[in-house]
Amino acid sequence: MKTSTCLLPFLFALTISGTAQTAPHFNGQSWWNHVKFLADDKLEGRDTGSRGERAAEEYAVEQLKASGAEPAGENGYYQPVKFVSHQIVEKESSLTLIRDGKREPVSFAEDAFIATNVVPAPEVTAPLAFVGYGLNIPEKGYNDFEGLDVRGKIAVYLAGSPAEIPSALASHYQTRASRWKALRAAGAVGAVYLLNPASMDIPWPRIALNRAHPTMDLDYPEFNETEGAKLAVVWNPGEAEKLFAGSGHSFADIAALAKDRKPLPRFALTASLEAKAKVETKQIESANIVAKLPGSDPALKGEYVVLSAHIDHVGIGEPINGDRIYNGAMDNGSGSALVLDMAANLKQHPEKLRRWLLLVLVTGEEKGLLGSKYFAGHPTVSAKSIVADANVDMFLPIVPLKTLTVFGLEESDLGDRTREVAQSLNLKVQPDPQPLRNVFIRSDQYNFIRHGVPSVMIDVGAEPGSAEEKIFTDWRTQHYHAPSDDTKQPVNLEAAAKYEEVIRALLINIANNDGRPAWKPQSFFRRYASGN
Ligand SMILES: [Zn+2]
Repeated sequence: MKTSTCLLPFLFALTISGTAQTAPHFNGQSWWNHVKFLADDKLEGRDTGSRGERAAEEYAVEQLKASGAEPAGENGYYQPVKFVSHQIVEKESSLTLIRDGKREPVSFAEDAFIATNVVPAPEVTAPLAFVGYGLNIPEKGYNDFEGLDVRGKIAVYLAGSPAEIPSALASHYQTRASRWKALRAAGAVGAVYLLNPASMDIPWPRIALNRAHPTMDLDYPEFNETEGAKLAVVWNPGEAEKLFAGSGHSFADIAALAKDRKPLPRFALTASLEAKAKVETKQIESANIVAKLPGSDPALKGEYVVLSAHIDHVGIGEPINGDRIYNGAMDNGSGSALVLDMAANLKQHPEKLRRWLLLVLVTGEEKGLLGSKYFAGHPTVSAKSIVADANVDMFLPIVPLKTLTVFGLEESDLGDRTREVAQSLNLKVQPDPQPLRNVFIRSDQYNFIRHGVPSVMIDVGAEPGSAEEKIFTDWRTQHYHAPSDDTKQPVNLEAAAKYEEVIRALLINIANNDGRPAWKPQSFFRRYASGN
């Protein structure tokens, strides 16, 4: 791919908003230099616990030190985190559909594969039941399991949620922990996760390509979220009709309903699923990186504003076009680079920050938000001292920045503060335009939210139906979690610089406002803030 014209000398247009003039603090180039380092082939895609990730972390620590950020981990800048990895041994594993005594082998490449984010039992055979979206949401009186017997069965559910459930709430109930709680309460022994064609970021052949890549979990019993689960299977929607044969329903009809987030039928299926699984287990060590920049107000000295980003990516995988290194330039070299650039900038242009800033580069995000889960559960500063989290993950400065998409916009007054900042920079703000994609729970802010911390994640946005939206969709199909998310792709340095300006202004707003950010009274997530 050719590098775009955005590497030409950068010009920042001064925007006038009321009487406030927004001066440039960033040029995009210093940010891009960090991205180039982090996404270099030498770093081998920064897989959790790999030597490439260690090199990325050493670089980050050097940069933070040079910016005058102080260590705030457990071991200097580092907070060690222990993981266990699980890898399926496919030649000693199998899936078989059994219907009327007839056995139908399931192809791992074409049909479905055994996921290892639930450690599979060596052998399980159970009848299947279709449970719609597989959700039980008491606060909305919504229960997919009502009137359906799934005891001892494997529940087949379609990713997604009905339109009557607000997107943040729907996202929360689709996390692994909430999902298994509901399945377990209903008596299911396993689950088949049917991908929703309306919300798949990555096409099936690319998903199946890396299906045998190891998965990881935190190696601490307190974080076990899937007790009692014997099996999790990921199913290709293109081969889903074979699950529904003889049930009186077709997957085509169900997918058409789900596309519009309509209610789904629930019913018993005619087949049983037999799974045999062999898994290899390994111990892995990695670390989060934590640094702090001092605030000036002695009365607020004990309070921190967190700026977080994940530094890990998916590492080396199956080759695509001859390239095996999944560089992760945008995901999330971009966010890690922003944290480093922000630290340097705040050092160069010392603003009077009243509260302290806590810069957190987490590991294990790609394995299921694990580094942030560990950090939020075991913060290296007092939990109560964390007033907010602004998380930056793959903000995609690949189109001009005109609109910001704000995940969590309506949940806390961080949304209002983001609106204020956006207005001062002549930018529009929109809530999550694609709630089906579950972005709200797909990055590290979610673990701060679960611990009561008002949080927000902001992306370069595109309005629904716009040309930019198509650029984003194409980017996900082709480059998201692919080797081509590298530094040969075109980026818009002006958009990156302006985005950094937004994050900087938001951090300063949170650091200097008298009051701590607060959840909205109607926010579902306010319940986790009982300690505040
Ligand atoms: Zn990712």
